Amino acid sequence: MQRELVVRTGSRAELVDITGQVADVVRASGVEEGLCALLVPHTTAGLTLNENWDPSVRRDILAALERLVPWRGEYTHSEGNSAAHIKAFLCGFSAWVPIEGGLLSLGQWQGIYLAEFDGPRTRRVVVTVISSS
Ligand code: ZN
Repeated sequence: MQRELVVRTGSRAELVDITGQVADVVRASGVEEGLCALLVPHTTAGLTLNENWDPSVRRDILAALERLVPWRGEYTHSEGNSAAHIKAFLCGFSAWVPIEGGLLSLGQWQGIYLAEFDGPRTRRVVVTVISSS
């Protein structure tokens, strides 16, 4: 089963928690044991798993990435958003999460995040649920 999530981001750089929407897709699939594969089909947004309890972790990650890859720099890409491409490259574009008992088998403090680096935009996340039974 495959579904596409639509995620509207609100700022240039942002980590949007999509765990609930992904869990909804898994629930709707009826798959009890298997794999949930996620892809962000963009070049200036990524996908990651990280802490979902303390929001300061998200702020710190974005601030560290900004220090590492500042928006303005010696880039050659004419669109002017090279920093976003580089941050997305560092973040990665896909993830997979096991499904156990019909639920996403995430770590206790893990959430699934769309990582926006060139927003605000409307982004897509392709969610594929595969049964192993
Ligand atoms: Zn570009």
